[in-house]
Amino acid sequence: MKRFSKVTAVLWVVLGLVAAKGAAAPPSIVVLVSVDTLRADFVSFDGHRPRTTPFMDTLARQGIVFRTAYSTSSWTPPAMGSLLTGLYPTSHGVTTGNVQHVDRVEQPPLPRALTTLAEMFHRAGYTTIGVPANRHLMARLGFAQGFDFYYREAAFLPAVRVNDQVRKQLLLAFGPEWRKTWKRGKVFLWIHYFDPHDPYFARHPWIDRYAPEYEEHPQDFPANMVMKEIKRRFPHPDAALGARIRPLYESEISYWDAHFRRLALQLGLNAPNVLLIFTADHGEEMAEHGALGHSQSLHEELVRVPLLVRWPEGLPQGVTVMRPVSIVDIMPTMAQLAGIVPPRGLQGRSLVPLMMGKDRSPARPVYMELFPPKPHLLAIRSGPWKLIRGLGSSGRVALYDLRTDPGEHHDVASTHRKLVFRLQNTMADWYRGLPPAPTAKPVPLRNKKIEEELRSLGYLQ
Ligand SMILES: [Zn+2]
Repeated sequence: MKRFSKVTAVLWVVLGLVAAKGAAAPPSIVVLVSVDTLRADFVSFDGHRPRTTPFMDTLARQGIVFRTAYSTSSWTPPAMGSLLTGLYPTSHGVTTGNVQHVDRVEQPPLPRALTTLAEMFHRAGYTTIGVPANRHLMARLGFAQGFDFYYREAAFLPAVRVNDQVRKQLLLAFGPEWRKTWKRGKVFLWIHYFDPHDPYFARHPWIDRYAPEYEEHPQDFPANMVMKEIKRRFPHPDAALGARIRPLYESEISYWDAHFRRLALQLGLNAPNVLLIFTADHGEEMAEHGALGHSQSLHEELVRVPLLVRWPEGLPQGVTVMRPVSIVDIMPTMAQLAGIVPPRGLQGRSLVPLMMGKDRSPARPVYMELFPPKPHLLAIRSGPWKLIRGLGSSGRVALYDLRTDPGEHHDVASTHRKLVFRLQNTMADWYRGLPPAPTAKPVPLRNKKIEEELRSLGYLQ
């Protein structure tokens, strides 16, 4: 895992420098921002209206936006494992999260044997700081490996308190004068926000604009309640319920955008020499396929995520890339931009040539996975086609043409049998070729309070 030939190393760094604009030195400040449960089609730089993310729209104009970026799964543990290792879930092993057995709740940890994004930056001399606001990312579940400073409890905090945690970790890392000193060395900072996840709070002032009727009839909206409660009070998820979730969800996104703006301006994360990467772990369903929340399928509303790469000093600005890419591509991309030799065996590829408009290679399919106790599914996106296949007993196959059916409502598998055959074979070859994850013993939670939190958010069956 850690060996790499010198020739390959030199070649990698040279390619990185040639690819970057002119001869910009590698970025000393690298910031990865992920937002839990943020659908790509709800950020306004993806075209959403109302304008939910005015601050991110500004940053997007100064960077590269990937309009067809996919997560590797539709919920936090497998998706975040991929973002932080550059591997698909089968190969990093966090395929199930917080599985409840008869007498205990446990989650497979991120295996020690893998090299994480934070370990990669740590070895390259960066001070590494992680601030995740999702219990699935607790230090004891293996997600802190490689971080010099980590918000270990990973509680479900609103953005305003996540920002406090970021400042606290910077204080711990750089001392009382941190505001003046933290950018003097090399720093890798990862922040994971939680706001668009349920419960959907009606955030002011945005809710007044997105749903003016909310003030007079709040009882019609599934606001301020956890998913378990929403499902109890509104047992029939339909388009009308989806339409009442949307403005709440939008108000949460705008709340996040406003608070991230504050932190970014305070810390200068929008400076031209900062490499900023922004994405999400997965999306959210609002009854598009008859369900609510996430982790129930691999449809577009659950797996297409925003992806923005911004580094004005070293990359072009105002670029839009339509080719399908995956969050497993983020680690090799960050490695190349920072001039770091990536660990061997990464399953994505660097997006630098695409960002520079110099990628002549054929487009590659991207894949998604979902595991029991959720529905056992695999999916492939290849060109305009998306195929979702059930594993195990059902074995059901669905094919969608995303050019004419971006919402995936018309299964055309029965009229495209040859294509279905070809895509299934491609996917089967890929799946068989995935190296298995190193073994890691599931970690019991042993904490009633956290179990209750997870249960109320709909994580424990
Ligand atoms: Zn999540």
